[in-house]
Amino acid sequence: MSKVVCVLYDDPVDGYPKSYARDSLPKLERYPDGQTLPAPQAIDFKPGTLLGSVSGELGLRKFLESKGHKFLVTSDKDGPNSFFEHELADADVVISQPFWPAYLTAERLARAKNLKLAITAGIGSDHVDLQAAMDKGITVAEVTYCNSISVSEHIVMMILSLVRNYIPSYQWVVEGGWNIADCVARSYDLEGMNVGTVGAGRIGLAALRRLKPFDVKLHYTERHRLPDAVEKELGLTYHDHVESMVKLCDVITINTPLHPETEHMFGDALIAKMKRGAYLINTARGKICDENAVARALKSGQLAGYAGDVWFPQPPAKDHPWRTMPHHGMTPHVSGTSLPAQARYAAGVREILECWFARKPIRPEYLIVENGKLAGMGAHSYSAGNVTEGSEAAARYRRAAGR
Ligand code: NDP
Repeated sequence: MSKVVCVLYDDPVDGYPKSYARDSLPKLERYPDGQTLPAPQAIDFKPGTLLGSVSGELGLRKFLESKGHKFLVTSDKDGPNSFFEHELADADVVISQPFWPAYLTAERLARAKNLKLAITAGIGSDHVDLQAAMDKGITVAEVTYCNSISVSEHIVMMILSLVRNYIPSYQWVVEGGWNIADCVARSYDLEGMNVGTVGAGRIGLAALRRLKPFDVKLHYTERHRLPDAVEKELGLTYHDHVESMVKLCDVITINTPLHPETEHMFGDALIAKMKRGAYLINTARGKICDENAVARALKSGQLAGYAGDVWFPQPPAKDHPWRTMPHHGMTPHVSGTSLPAQARYAAGVREILECWFARKPIRPEYLIVENGKLAGMGAHSYSAGNVTEGSEAAARYRRAAGR
């Protein structure tokens, strides 16, 4: 019998939904690179329902309890008195989502004497101190590709909404106005602009493909260059340094994992090298940008807009500068947790658990850490070291907010 602790975001404030806007989801056969979708032996949920919040339980309760495991679900994750901190002490398996991360710092991992498996229901396991997980022999797995296309769609939406000044224009309508000049004084066309991605993996490349029909000039920087055929197909300009790319681009989208090499990459120095009036989109991880440098650049006009859905910590403080800085299009961390994405990562978590309990290998594309070292996808996408922290900062926010 194992104890499985699952940390999910809160249910909607008006209660768990009784009905949904649509009746079905499109059926996908494969991901764009040919990888197969999650393939658990069975699922106990209806795709298209809310699975990522506490009452959705990732559709796992029946499966886990029928096998005799203890399954606890909570949203109370931060600080020494949280439910998660308490239950972690003898948990065998932890499941958490990047949207509402249960930070597994070295200190927490040291107290989690029984922990053997940490699953990310989504993509991006930087909320786990991977170095400490390696040192303690904990397996870390995530559901690679489950929401990559969801995020790439969000990137295109955010680029268009900033460049065309959508959010302030919408706001004028809600407020009863018809202020055309106010709306268009900051409105441009994307056509003809130089658009670059930092990182052209699953999300970055999918964003490039979706942007191509807008007749833009596409750029990328990467640790490993894309195949010649892909560069030709999309008309890509490759840069071996982020600096040479940012000085040419009108729009930059960030699509790398957070690891020691990318932490605070976009600070004052790199932002100063960008074109005046560039737009910066970050759906990767909040800590890849220096939060104060971004706010300063928006105030000075060095950046014309910043949008994204990733913050640090999550949830961020009420006075986080990104809530109130000018010309931003921030949302909570939602791009990778659309209802279809939830169905895929819930099925992926089930597949990982089925393998784990049957002592079968977890697919390499889901593995981040195994047997004390970066493994599978983790060996490709991450570097050793720690970028976690977070839990204490998030707990301070909850205390300040009286939650
Ligand atoms: P991939 O691993 O497919 O792509 C990431 C790419 O970034 C890789 O090609 C990697 O290169 C490259 N890279 C790593 N470090 C650098 C660097 N220093 N400079 C340039 N390129 C670099 O991951 P995904 O595209 O699926 O996801 C990217 C990130 O997006 C995730 O790690 C996660 O943090 C975030 N994400 C956000 C979501 C959201 O809801 N907002 C949901 C899903 C993911 P190489 O191949 O050479 O290692």
